[in-house]
Amino acid sequence: MGKIFLDHIGGQKLYSCAACETNLTNKRELISTRFTGATGRAYLFKRVVNLTYSPVQDRVMLTGRHMVRDVMCKNCKAKLGWMYEFATEESQKYKEGRVILEHALITESEGFPEA
Ligand SMILES: [Zn+2]
Repeated sequence: MGKIFLDHIGGQKLYSCAACETNLTNKRELISTRFTGATGRAYLFKRVVNLTYSPVQDRVMLTGRHMVRDVMCKNCKAKLGWMYEFATEESQKYKEGRVILEHALITESEGFPEA
């Protein structure tokens, strides 16, 4: 196994992997908190770092048919949520390339003050 290189996105209000505390994203990247995942409340983010992705899966959700990938923590491999690769419904297109993180699987912390 080679060394795992991890990014740090910085910013205020950080979201990290609950299992290993690897930084994933921050409040600036947060789009919506009104999603539901397998474990309950889930958040939609514009950009998330330090993830690995499963192959694309075809999934039918309440909001229509989507092509999604499961996303896992790059450091500890814990499953954290999923990414929308492609949405068939026009109204759901804004989710393409965006990432859902399940709230129960991430932790929030204050992070660093902006310069
Ligand atoms: Zn982790």
